[in-house]
Amino acid sequence: MTSIMVILCRFFSFSLIWGLAKSQEFSYKDTTTWGQNYPTCNGNNQSPVDIPWGFGETVIIQPGELQWINYGNIPDSMRIVNNGHTVQIYPTWVNASDRPYLTGGPLGGQYVIEQFHFHWGQNDSVGSEHTFRGRRTAMEFHMVHWKSEYGTFEAAASQADGFAVIGALYDPIFGKSSRGIEEIWRELGGLRQPNDAIQIIPFPLSDFEVVNSRDTYVSYYGSLTTPGCNEVVTWLVALDLFSITSDELQQIRSVQLGHGDTHNYRALQNLNNRQFTYYQSKSVEIHPVWRNNAYRPYLSGGPLRSQYVVEQFHFHWGQNNNVGSEHTFRGGRSSMELHIVHWKREYGSFAAAMQRRDGLAVIAALYQPSTGRSSNGIQQIWRQLRNLRQENSAVQVSPFPLSDFGLLNPTHRYMSYFGSLTTPTCNEAATWLVALNLFPISNNELRDIRLVRLRHGDRHNYRPLQRLNNRRFTSYRSY
Ligand SMILES: [Zn+2]
Ligand SMILES: [Zn+2]
Repeated sequence: MTSIMVILCRFFSFSLIWGLAKSQEFSYKDTTTWGQNYPTCNGNNQSPVDIPWGFGETVIIQPGELQWINYGNIPDSMRIVNNGHTVQIYPTWVNASDRPYLTGGPLGGQYVIEQFHFHWGQNDSVGSEHTFRGRRTAMEFHMVHWKSEYGTFEAAASQADGFAVIGALYDPIFGKSSRGIEEIWRELGGLRQPNDAIQIIPFPLSDFEVVNSRDTYVSYYGSLTTPGCNEVVTWLVALDLFSITSDELQQIRSVQLGHGDTHNYRALQNLNNRQFTYYQSKSVEIHPVWRNNAYRPYLSGGPLRSQYVVEQFHFHWGQNNNVGSEHTFRGGRSSMELHIVHWKREYGSFAAAMQRRDGLAVIAALYQPSTGRSSNGIQQIWRQLRNLRQENSAVQVSPFPLSDFGLLNPTHRYMSYFGSLTTPTCNEAATWLVALNLFPISNNELRDIRLVRLRHGDRHNYRPLQRLNNRRFTSYRSY
């Protein structure tokens, strides 16, 4: 992770000279001597570390998925600098509420994006800062986020839970790189010398594959990997390898670093007593955002003892029209199922609510092919599906009211029972409300959603039926 000093001087003009001078005072020739000028670099919670996990091994996933919010938003401007230690990109948004942020997983709050940058080596066998069971890859990508409740990046830099950094490791083994890498690499010619800086045409951060990756992330508590080495970072390193070509690796090596450095990865640090935990992030989902939380739609009444606000909605489908729904009516499976996930407002966040038995309320609607017209809600999402076919893709859609799904009809009846999420981590936290009507969708629309590619080559995303055990159903009418 790159120089905090340089970033500080963007905010505090009085420290400009000092900040720049300090930032030049470290080199990668011997990263073990950083502690002489920056004592925190000798601390007990330093990064990077070796992650004791081998590719293909299974892990225990913690409850609470990592959520990527607003990463499809195109920045209003994007500036790249060669700061002498790396190539660093600052995306900015005029309207603070458009800024992408991470939440969920191990994070107790919202962490907004500040900058992203790269670490590389002298050849393809080195470059990443983190290693997996001793295996180093050719490059590592860091996305640096700070906790928004601290107000500013520099205030967060002195708080123990101030930063969250996403790490993604790259190797030249699969061929093509992501669009995000291509967009930055195109500009490398203008960044050859330290202090070179350019503005580029903004692109959404979802152009990097790690964003919205449905993969698993390993988390541990650590530090910035450059001086001052502040111990303020919740690390989230993707357990996936991302692809870059050998040509592209050669191009980033032509970016000159300060002090004649030929790489910019720090030596591994001791783990000491720290622990690793594993989290997953979610896939094709729609996350509506309301600027004013008071306007956020909520459910109440029926089996629900208080207000449950909307978090996201998503779909389950199958290989053909005979399968796809997760719930069945007397053994009859329909072609698709919509889930609208809500959380109990008094628990403060989705992540906190999913740890509670009464934390979530999920509305389910089952769809069957019909000549009838599908709802406006379905039509508006389906218009975007072609842009969501590749894994990890994300788009912004023109917002529409959730009433466009046609679920608010007063004649509808709902069956309620207590159950779980239908994907790992399967938290038993959900009051289910399954609409007893079947909703219309066309054959063409069902065909379109099957073109959305799922991870692992999966052809469907419905879970098999589970045992009812002693659970009861109750029926409610909406009004
Ligand atoms: Zn870094
Ligand atoms: Zn679902």
